[in-house]
Amino acid sequence: MSEPSTAGSEPSSAAVDGPAQTQEAAALVRDEEIWFSDGNVVLEAQGRVFRVYQGLLSRDSEVFRDLFTIPQPSSEETYDGCAVVHLMDHPEELRHLLRVIFDGKRYYHSNHQLDFSIVAALVRLSNKYQVDYVRDIYLSRMTSCFCTDLKTWDAVRSKHGSSVMNFSDKDAIAAVNIVRLTGASSMLPSAMYLCCQLDTELLLQGSPRLDGTLECLSLQDLAACINARSSLVRVAISSSLDVLDPSKPSLQCDNMRCRRTVESMRRRILDGGSPARGLAPSDVLISEVPNIRNAQRLHFTGSDLCQNCGDVLCSAEQCRRNQFWEGLPKHLSVGIAIPADWPHAQNPPSSSYVSSI
Ligand SMILES: [Zn+2]
Repeated sequence: MSEPSTAGSEPSSAAVDGPAQTQEAAALVRDEEIWFSDGNVVLEAQGRVFRVYQGLLSRDSEVFRDLFTIPQPSSEETYDGCAVVHLMDHPEELRHLLRVIFDGKRYYHSNHQLDFSIVAALVRLSNKYQVDYVRDIYLSRMTSCFCTDLKTWDAVRSKHGSSVMNFSDKDAIAAVNIVRLTGASSMLPSAMYLCCQLDTELLLQGSPRLDGTLECLSLQDLAACINARSSLVRVAISSSLDVLDPSKPSLQCDNMRCRRTVESMRRRILDGGSPARGLAPSDVLISEVPNIRNAQRLHFTGSDLCQNCGDVLCSAEQCRRNQFWEGLPKHLSVGIAIPADWPHAQNPPSSSYVSSI
């Protein structure tokens, strides 16, 4: 990540209220929102200038405090009578951080759902400038989605967000990178799992950020992701076939239509995936429960399941998904210890993901 630079370190820097004014300085754009007329320092980011309070920034950020104490050159650059500090950040992202510091609770109310891009920018910049309370608040928004609990994961994934943050699948790439940046390792299994479901081209090319740069996985994480995809496909098929095994004692049913239905579901998986999994063969967490319940409802069509067989299969399917989730960190081989708050982290499940029904 780029480091901040002080006034005078960039060729575009110049005072606008003195004889040294240049065309470059005149081209600076004053931010309409983050501009306090009695502010005492001007931050410049890619040509946009923000007038803020040095003391407040110094109070919240050791990095800004150090930045402001760096001795200025004799020909100190000013704008509107204030010292100018140049930053390498994207102005939109910097504005988010300044909003929180100077207008915090009023601007981003704790009950408002924010886009992932805003939360990610706030986490990245607050981590860079060591504004710890902002980093912690917005990391907790991230963990409301990239979570350790399967029930929560099912809910946020189906709605593409929690009550405080929305996201799309491609945001998983940035989520993994934020884990690597901040050490918030509890997010890693779900974020890496979602990366494994991304289109290969997107995974390799990266997902665009606000500033147009591409967010890419590190080579190490990319390799882990590619390796995990093939093993996820194997787990998805083998664990589903184990659930849909008509020879299991719990499925010993006198109704031949039940057996035919289970065998038909099993054949669909062997033939290339169930209707539920469709084009996402590595998405082990896609549930067959809706299909099973649907077969239960088709009681008079000749392609159905009795109440007992449907219930047994649904229970086995939920068990299969729970066991897979518990083993997810180990299965992804993401190069970290299992997060302490992961289900059964102190007592890892056996290597088998399949259930006995
Ligand atoms: Zn039956």
